[in-house]
Amino acid sequence: MSFREVIGQLEAHYGWPDPPKITDPFKMIVFENITHLVEDERREAVFEDLRRRVGVTPTAILSASPEVLYEIAKPGGMDVVGRVEKLRSSAQLVLRSFHGDLKNVLKLPLKQATKSLNKFPGIGDPRAEKILLFTKRYPVLALESNGLRALLRLGFGEDHKNYSTAYKSAQNAVKEQLLPDCDWLIGVHQLLRRHGQELCRRTDPVCTQCPLDKVCRYYLTRK
Ligand code: SF4
Repeated sequence: MSFREVIGQLEAHYGWPDPPKITDPFKMIVFENITHLVEDERREAVFEDLRRRVGVTPTAILSASPEVLYEIAKPGGMDVVGRVEKLRSSAQLVLRSFHGDLKNVLKLPLKQATKSLNKFPGIGDPRAEKILLFTKRYPVLALESNGLRALLRLGFGEDHKNYSTAYKSAQNAVKEQLLPDCDWLIGVHQLLRRHGQELCRRTDPVCTQCPLDKVCRYYLTRK
């Protein structure tokens, strides 16, 4: 089954996703760093609390007292101090290197934009690509860990102990079948993520309920 047919099956199963709520590059970085290993609902609640009480701009974050930022970040998992520091250092980096507005990064060529975003805490290539995709600047298939796992299990690319190698392998396996359309690619990112979270889970994937069981390399091999 082709990659596009796989996406069609996932769309039939889950429905096409709503567009993402957060697409501003600085807000996306804050959203990535404000919590640690918590569920989406909790992360959204912590982010919303920050937005309401402080604001999600570099100057607002740097103007807020560390105590208030700590209080806001506290329900977001472990290492509260470290997460507050990440917010503050991200804000400082925007003021220092991007003239106060991270949207300036979108003016750069793809490789340079990715490299610039890599300077932010917690932002490796996959998250940098996600920012460049969700801002609709570059039509790249960004993948997060759930979507990557699902793609590899289905047989697109080869898994590898090095995350970056596995990531590139999956991207290369489907690159000829991608539409150069940011809206479509954003939907694909979200569909694969949802599939990895709900059925193609890291432990105990629910293959018997999966619409792709008949074509999945992982499932067929295990059977
Ligand atoms: S059959 Fe199982 S392993 Fe394969 S994609 Fe579906 S849930 Fe994942």
